[in-house]
Amino acid sequence: MMNFQAQILYKNTDLLPILSVETIDYHYGKHHCGYAKVLNSLIENTKYADKNLEEIIALSRGREQKIFNNAAQLFNHNFYWNCLKISNRKPEGKLSDLITSQFGSFDEFLNEYASHANTLFGSGWSWLVLENENLSFVNMQNAEIPDGPKQKLLCVIDLWEHAYYIDYRNNRAEYVDKILKQCVNWKFCSKLIP
Ligand code: MN
Repeated sequence: MMNFQAQILYKNTDLLPILSVETIDYHYGKHHCGYAKVLNSLIENTKYADKNLEEIIALSRGREQKIFNNAAQLFNHNFYWNCLKISNRKPEGKLSDLITSQFGSFDEFLNEYASHANTLFGSGWSWLVLENENLSFVNMQNAEIPDGPKQKLLCVIDLWEHAYYIDYRNNRAEYVDKILKQCVNWKFCSKLIP
């Protein structure tokens, strides 16, 4: 029987000044941990009880919305924390090459990612994915995750209000800009492309 846990990789001060201690404490302690707790209770004594997180997401998608939502949100948050780090690093290796060939420069890539993220209406996630050697930005609503057979997930920005409201109030675009320019762990994202 699985007992899912929310993963966090750093102290609540590690993303200052982009994300405050209060944001990390609430986002991780209340929201992220909440999804793990609810998922554990929903799958107890069901056919999902012995499945891993990816299997639960695939099996429940479009069928059992409550289980899907909590499993997908657990997955999304685990991925999001991995993507964050205060850093001035830039993409490396193949990711860096793809960015240069598709967008001309890293700055232009960041502008396009931000513009695309800012078009999402309501709560959701803005992903960077690799598909057929092409980088693209994919916004998903609520808990949804891109699931094309060839879509490789590389980076994600949480666009739920709980991710930014304490620090940025209604200025979601400023949060997106700060995250992309100062708080993405590009080393993690780069390593996702073999
Ligand atoms: Mn969140």
